[in-house]
Amino acid sequence: MLNFTVGPVMSSPEVIETANHSAPYFRTPEFSQIMLENERMMLEYLHAPADSRCVFLTTSGTGAMESCVMNILRDEEKVIVINGGSFGQRFAELCRLHRRRVSEVRCGFGRQLRLEQLQALAGEGNTALVVNMHETSSGVLYDMPMISAFCREHGILLIVDAISAFIADELDMQAMGAAAVITGSQKALAVQPGVSVVALAPEALARVDANEEKCMYLSLKGALKNMERGQTPFTPAVTTLLQIHTRLCAIARGGGVAAERAHIAGIAGQFRSAIADLPLQIVSESMSNAVTALHPLAARAGDVVRILKDEYQIWVCPNGGEKADEVFRVGHIGYITSEDNRALIEALHDMHAKGQL
Ligand SMILES: *Cc1c(COP(=O)(O)O)cnc(C)c1O
Repeated sequence: MLNFTVGPVMSSPEVIETANHSAPYFRTPEFSQIMLENERMMLEYLHAPADSRCVFLTTSGTGAMESCVMNILRDEEKVIVINGGSFGQRFAELCRLHRRRVSEVRCGFGRQLRLEQLQALAGEGNTALVVNMHETSSGVLYDMPMISAFCREHGILLIVDAISAFIADELDMQAMGAAAVITGSQKALAVQPGVSVVALAPEALARVDANEEKCMYLSLKGALKNMERGQTPFTPAVTTLLQIHTRLCAIARGGGVAAERAHIAGIAGQFRSAIADLPLQIVSESMSNAVTALHPLAARAGDVVRILKDEYQIWVCPNGGEKADEVFRVGHIGYITSEDNRALIEALHDMHAKGQL
């Protein structure tokens, strides 16, 4: 099968080779060393400011989102949540669940956030903002320079879920002024699922330190304390962490994150120009490199996903809920070659010729 979903995605042969062993015992200086290198490379690739720290949580990305809500935000804090799809909705639900006061900014599906929407909330006592840099459900890459300028101007703490943006799109934590950035193992890091990563700038570290402990498993205080010696409080997804190490080292050898991003942008560009003549409407008015969300004009999205899987051995991503028949998504992240990309493009043209698209 070729996998063009948005995660888990295809991994490189060397990452697969790393997984092809029993998990080693991990309370060792050797494993700690690997973890500390993972931290160093992650902070470098994210352009984290001086004295930032990074932790690796054994949980899916949502666990890291929840951890940030519990450990960085304060009780009853007024939080702006950008909600333009299912991941923004998840942040809003998490904030409400943990009794933060939510100022929700709704963006229509596929629509870019506008400055007026933020300005309407200025001076209303909001002290934090959480955003999914790339709203993976609709493929919208939010205007982060605009969001970070707004946060700076109003002294608002910025937490960025960059789970599907890291590596795929330009991301500079320091320039963005983000207090925390979240990412995960199964998107453009392109290793097995199971680990999410949280980078914390000094501003977020101070809040974690000052906040009362609210949880054990997702405690950032506990994770940070253990990470001082390259360890985790509980048994981590050891093999996934080793794969992350393999992948981060490969990125360094391949010319860094910029080279990787250029590859993803190339795959996305090749795909988008090759399907321009098909009856597929692009959903997002501001696309990331990671994903193209498409609305088929002459077919049901769910049928397109099923036919590609059953007749062409290609996975693309269905949308959930009310969009299931309207929208499907093609991911451009993971170990995708131009040849793989052509196989998908040919399959879509073939389906069109047969009247299935
Ligand atoms: C994939 C993703 C997540 C995390 O999803 P999990 O299934 O919990 O790993 C969170 N936010 C965004 C923007 C994502 O793309």
